[in-house]
Parts: sequence; structure tokens; C-alpha cells
Amino acid sequence: MKIELIKLPYATDALSPVIGKQTVECHHGKHLQTYVNNLNNMIPGTKFENAALEVIVKESEGALFNNAGQVLNHNLYFTQFSPNGGGKPSGKLAAAIDASFGSFESFQGTFEAAGVALFGSGWVWLASDSRGALSIVKEPNAGNPATSGLKPLLGFDVWEHAYYLDFQNRRADHLKELWRIVDWKAVEARY
Ligand code: MN
Repeated sequence: MKIELIKLPYATDALSPVIGKQTVECHHGKHLQTYVNNLNNMIPGTKFENAALEVIVKESEGALFNNAGQVLNHNLYFTQFSPNGGGKPSGKLAAAIDASFGSFESFQGTFEAAGVALFGSGWVWLASDSRGALSIVKEPNAGNPATSGLKPLLGFDVWEHAYYLDFQNRRADHLKELWRIVDWKAVEARY
């Protein structure tokens, strides 16, 4: 099955100044497009020819996993933001965050710190298990909590390509700003 580049649910300049137009264009149109192209070139002739993306991520390894993981990661990433985002989650996700981390602000601080502490390239995720219990998961490179049987709810990309044009080396500042554009309705729908 051919993997398609997802369409952005907003204009490329809509997330500015948190994520600038040039970053969105390069990140979505070049980095993600390359992962999509690589994956489509690798799948033919493998057992994954008709597999869903999530299945490829869970069952592959090596270069195939790296590209499939990055397509899944970025599909989740780009669809969790909105120019009208920010604020706080509500409903059962808000209650679960309070129960797990004490408060939303405490969760934010722990999540940011995990992203800052991740050495090199990777992702920090809010994930839930099958019973709805939440955890913050640091994954190197193309990692996704789905490979551990968890459901990814929110993912911040800490590869430098995600923030270098806007924040240079200031990863912590970038992570702190991202809360302003998180579309909590989209994140809650994954929970
Ligand atoms: Mn990325």
C-alpha cells in the first residue's frame, strides 16, 4: 500500500512564530517527504506490502523501521498542532494528567525536562497504556511508544531540524513555546 504524505491541517505560516513558515515547509515538505519516499521505495517485495503504517512500525527493524517510524511520528506531530491551540486539556485526559503528574503545569515541566535531557535526536512522548495510565516516554531517533505496546498521544520532535531555523540551539525554549500551539482536542481524541 502506497504511503501518502499527509496534508497539513493549516497553512505553512499558521504556526508562526512558534514554528516558522520555513521550518514547516522544510520539515513537512522535505524531511517528512523523504521518509515517505524512502518507505515507499523499501516496502515492495517485503511482507509489509499491504500492511498499515502502525503494523510496519511495530514489526520492522533497521532502515525500514527508521523511515516507517518517522512517517508515523510526523503524522502524529503535524496533526496535533493548531494556530488556535494552547490552553489546557479537558475531560478524562485532564483528569489523568492531574492524577499522574499532580497538575498540568507539573506535567509540562516534566515533559520539557525529558525533551531537554534526550541526548541527540529523538522524541518525547505522552503515552497511555491499555488501561489509560499515562507515562512520559523518551525515544531515540525514530522511536515511538507503539513499539512498547503503548498509545502515543502527544509527541515533541527534538531532532534539530524541528527547531534550528527558529531557535538555533535553544531546544528548551522551543519546547516551552510548543504548548502555545498544541491542539488538545486532537490529543484528547487519541486517548
Ligand atoms: Mn522531524
